[in-house]
Amino acid sequence: MQKNDLKQYYMELGIDEKVYDYCQSVEETLKDRFAAIDSIAEQNQVKVIKAMQDAHFAEEHLHGTTGYGYNDAGREAVEKIYANVFGTEDALVRQQITCGTHALYIALSANLRPGDEILSPVGKVYDTLEGVIGVREQKGSLAEFGISFKQVDLLSDGSFDYEKIRNSINEKTKLIEIQRSKGYDVRPTLSVKQIGKLISFVKSIKPDVICMVDNCYGEFVETIEPSQVGADMVVGSLIKNPGGGLAPIGGYICGTKECIENCAFRLTSPGLGKEVGASLSVTRDIAQGLFLAPTVSAAALKGAIFAANVYEKLGFKTVPNSTESRHDIIQAVEFGKPEYIQAFCEGIQAAAPVDSFVTPVPWAMPGYDSEVIMAAGAFVSGASIELSADAPMKEPYAVYFQGGLTYQHAKFGIMMSLQKIVEKGLLLW
Ligand SMILES: *Cc1c(COP(=O)(O)O)cnc(C)c1O
Repeated sequence: MQKNDLKQYYMELGIDEKVYDYCQSVEETLKDRFAAIDSIAEQNQVKVIKAMQDAHFAEEHLHGTTGYGYNDAGREAVEKIYANVFGTEDALVRQQITCGTHALYIALSANLRPGDEILSPVGKVYDTLEGVIGVREQKGSLAEFGISFKQVDLLSDGSFDYEKIRNSINEKTKLIEIQRSKGYDVRPTLSVKQIGKLISFVKSIKPDVICMVDNCYGEFVETIEPSQVGADMVVGSLIKNPGGGLAPIGGYICGTKECIENCAFRLTSPGLGKEVGASLSVTRDIAQGLFLAPTVSAAALKGAIFAANVYEKLGFKTVPNSTESRHDIIQAVEFGKPEYIQAFCEGIQAAAPVDSFVTPVPWAMPGYDSEVIMAAGAFVSGASIELSADAPMKEPYAVYFQGGLTYQHAKFGIMMSLQKIVEKGLLLW
């Protein structure tokens, strides 16, 4: 296909010539950055393949079990592979873990006892965790079980407030919760190196404290994971990066033998632990998804960088900005007004392979404290490794954009988002 055929094709899909030309010119400038991302993907791909080979992953492992799921060799192999990839003693990788919040809840509740305290040295925790911990009053929260919480905000330049962190660690402090990704917040995402420094600092004050990293959206963005710089547990969702778009459900916790044993007892039952939990017929998708995860995460990352460049050059604030280094796949664009968010989400939706004909509207999503608008046309419902955008309907009216199983789809989505903004007369150019 000639270049002009491509333009023709996009125009038939509803993209104006001006939007197309602008986006192409932006993409032209990104070749070197994309090459660097491909090189990270290559390292991670080889790492995953090696872990599969080391575990003697075999065809027989792809078939699942039913009932109790005793002696589920496939499930055990997948957990071995995850532990290897994340560089940990053990792993819990289960479709019985319903989502990322559930995985984090298990990790916290399994390793904490009444009287213990959690410290977040990186500011506010993810919205749904506020309910889990009890920062926001919630029936069943850890607060109801006598577990307390402290938070130390990042300094205004995004760095750690070491002084306050030191002063906040006390005899009750049992677990440090470090959220790698910015989540629904306009703050920098942490690099694995920064997380390593923070963990060393915390352990120099209290060596036996458990350092847990909420690793959501960070997996495979770098060549090492937080568990390789001292984290005792890394936790995430399989319908984000590590599921590679194929895992239909699930979560993972990788960590020390003791932490994972506690988690397994919490997930199933004390005494049963990892021994039960039938994999049904999901093992193939979880394993193949992990196999694809390095390149899928790379595609999403390229889409995020493309989006930052497209919108920053039009005068909007982007976090991260168009040039800074990346540590997760999320891109925030601050629009300041709800109309832009609506248009942006309509564009992402209109570019989807599934449900492209629906119009996203804000709704009161469980676990969030304001209405949220979401755009997603995903093969796996709600999977945010697939191209998706969401925005809490509150100041600063920032939209969070992530995913894309292929870069080409992410690019099309961003072009379409700009198209909708242009069509609504919100951009004077
Ligand atoms: C997505 C996410 C979660 C929660 O995951 P769900 O699967 O939506 O429950 C927690 N923390 C961060 C940083 C996330 O991005």
